[in-house]
Amino acid sequence: MRYAETVVDLVGGTPLVKLNRVTEGLACTVLAKVEYLNPGGSVKDRIATRMIEAAEAEGLLKPGGTIVEPTSGNTGVGLALVAQQRGYRCVFVCPDKVSVDKRNVLKAYGAEVVVCPTAVPPEDPQSYYSVSDRLVREIEGAWKPNQYANVHGPRSHYETTGPEVWADTEGRVTHFVAGVGTGGTITGTGRYLKEQGPVRVIGADPEGSVYSGGTGRPYLVEGVGEDFWPSAYDPSVPDEIIAVSDADSFQMTRRLAREEGLLVGGSCGMAVVAALRAAKDLGPDDVVVVLLPDSGRGYLGKIFNDEWMSSYGFLESEEGGTVGDVLR
Ligand code: PMP
Repeated sequence: MRYAETVVDLVGGTPLVKLNRVTEGLACTVLAKVEYLNPGGSVKDRIATRMIEAAEAEGLLKPGGTIVEPTSGNTGVGLALVAQQRGYRCVFVCPDKVSVDKRNVLKAYGAEVVVCPTAVPPEDPQSYYSVSDRLVREIEGAWKPNQYANVHGPRSHYETTGPEVWADTEGRVTHFVAGVGTGGTITGTGRYLKEQGPVRVIGADPEGSVYSGGTGRPYLVEGVGEDFWPSAYDPSVPDEIIAVSDADSFQMTRRLAREEGLLVGGSCGMAVVAALRAAKDLGPDDVVVVLLPDSGRGYLGKIFNDEWMSSYGFLESEEGGTVGDVLR
């Protein structure tokens, strides 16, 4: 019989699929790494597994302990999956811009969810960083993985995502593109790939976020961009950061579902826009790999809802979109 012992054993080993329609007019190959095929539905299953195993080994997380983490949802799902298998309680703190659907997913896995305002600075006592710090102090046996500073986040990508991309492209990958949130994906995967060969690493960032020179002003794409510099991110790894608007990110997200059959989240649309811009002048031997972090199921009420899109003016230029649109 061929089966996994637990769902945790199904994390990683995600496939690459060629993008065929949104890439029209480009000479190179663009491959998407489809992370929603992880059991928890996102790339974050990878870091959750690694961070918990390391905390147990280091004695930071003991039997009956509680995991407290500020998370936009995906890390929470990953942590909740692993926690469930090992009998830990989970309390997650998330900003109010995170969709109700995503919060309900966390609850479905048995986690508790605390919601905080998005539009306050990180040092504000109401911010989701501050609230999670307070909970860690108040709950006995609490451990905060702190994905923003945990070395096992980037390390999990160095040990799994990077080698998968290199092996699946048979070493022919020339460009790697990923959105930057904690920076763990781009740091770990990018570092591994650059050690193997001359791979150009490109970060995708929402306009307004610090990684592309912004001040941290609010944007609507979830899970990426920051208003501070996390230590999980090594800014020396990416060769370039491309800033993408909410409008371009969401329009591309909708095209990925309609034209490529990939129902993915807004940070995936953002990463693909950056990948297409980076791919514009590449040749037929170039292979661009773009990582798609999560599924579109958590955004049905937003990105895939015409009224929500129209309320921000995001639908206006969508008709008849071509590669030219995002390459402006
Ligand atoms: N997209 C989504 C939807 C995410 O939840 C995250 C994680 N915050 C990212 C992209 C960015 O990944 P990383 O934290 O590794 O930079």
